Amino acid sequence: MKFFSTNRKAPAVGFKEAVINSLPSDNGLYFPESIPTLSPEVLSDFTSLALPELGFEMMKPFATDIPEADLFQILEQVLSFDIPVVQVAEDIYSLELYHGPTYAFKDVGARFLARCLGYFSQDQQEEVTILVATSGDTGGAVANGFYGVEGVKVVILYPSGKVSDLQEKQLTTLGGNISALEVAGDFDDCQALVKQAFLDKELNEKLSLTSANSINIARWMPQSIYYAWMLTQLASEDLLIAVPSGNYGNITAAMFARRMGFPLGSFLACSNANDVVPRYLQTGGYEPEPTIATYANAMDVSKPSNFPRMQELYDGSYEAIKEDVRGFTLSDEEILQTIADCRRESRYLLDPHGAIGYAALKEHCKPGQRGIFLETAHPIKFAPTMAKALGQELHMPGFVTDLIKREKVADKIGKGFEEFREWLMK
Ligand SMILES: *Cc1c(COP(=O)(O)O)cnc(C)c1O
Repeated sequence: MKFFSTNRKAPAVGFKEAVINSLPSDNGLYFPESIPTLSPEVLSDFTSLALPELGFEMMKPFATDIPEADLFQILEQVLSFDIPVVQVAEDIYSLELYHGPTYAFKDVGARFLARCLGYFSQDQQEEVTILVATSGDTGGAVANGFYGVEGVKVVILYPSGKVSDLQEKQLTTLGGNISALEVAGDFDDCQALVKQAFLDKELNEKLSLTSANSINIARWMPQSIYYAWMLTQLASEDLLIAVPSGNYGNITAAMFARRMGFPLGSFLACSNANDVVPRYLQTGGYEPEPTIATYANAMDVSKPSNFPRMQELYDGSYEAIKEDVRGFTLSDEEILQTIADCRRESRYLLDPHGAIGYAALKEHCKPGQRGIFLETAHPIKFAPTMAKALGQELHMPGFVTDLIKREKVADKIGKGFEEFREWLMK
């Protein structure tokens, strides 16, 4: 399988090169040259597969540089935790994606990427430096996935004061091969610094740089697996799927799974006040605004980096995208209200991101239609917001009290590129 650049000014490359490069030289995104429909044997019988088997069938057509036996082993290691569908209300279900090591869905993609890069670097002499911008959860998942991996150094950039305490501790307390940079800016600034580093010739001559953001296909593509897995637990002719979205990697992975032949119904693109895509879906105009800080902080993104992939999936046709996806936006006040209402009515604990998906289903599900939203992170990652919504503190599980006690280690930098560049060069 070859991967081309969405800007079409850089050469197409194989899986290995696309994973190691992360970003094509023309600043586009890699995208597979074809999305094969899975064989009728797999599609008629996928509900009997175990999660790693399903993941293997879905990644096999793309990860063609990894021998099948090795790929299967990687997927067994990546998909080693539960991804359950839980009923929340009549006809409303939650796909709980927070049972991995860092309590957010990013674990699936980050672990797959870490293991693919580990596989490719086995016979490489040079140390690889992984740059990752995080709005909250990616940093922790990537740090955890790469911690202690030989020949790999990880540099995490996060926006100062804009991630939760627990998220910050997850990415600043590991040490070893993991470094954290606290950037005086927002997530889009962090993302811009990473992108600029890739385009800097001298930096790339000195360091072997790669990225662990969902711009990397090995981060992005495996997210399609849990949408198919959802169908093994919940049958429906006309499923409505609400995806809390920031960088739009997760929801485009859902569209990708549907292209492989899984009967996934239609989608709700759920955003917080950073609503550039819902506005696009309404008007056809793509007009990013400055980033706004919200309670659903992992979605505080104003220029979603995966938007070109969404366009690619629909050949750039606004009309076609609109057929499959509707937009939904929820304010901070409504997020708090939704968490409180759902707790009271259904005894289910939503996190601030999942709350937007739940509210979207409440508004958009037709009578008798089944809806499912993604619970993208564990509510405890957002303890102050949860306390505000519920009027009481959440019980702190043991893993949280341990983590909170550890000491944060991070270097502070501004949002200008020169300072970041110097830090990398030293
Ligand atoms: C990253 C993240 C999102 C947004 O996912 P995208 O793929 O960036 O759209 C939503 N919720 C949580 C908790 C996240 O960590």
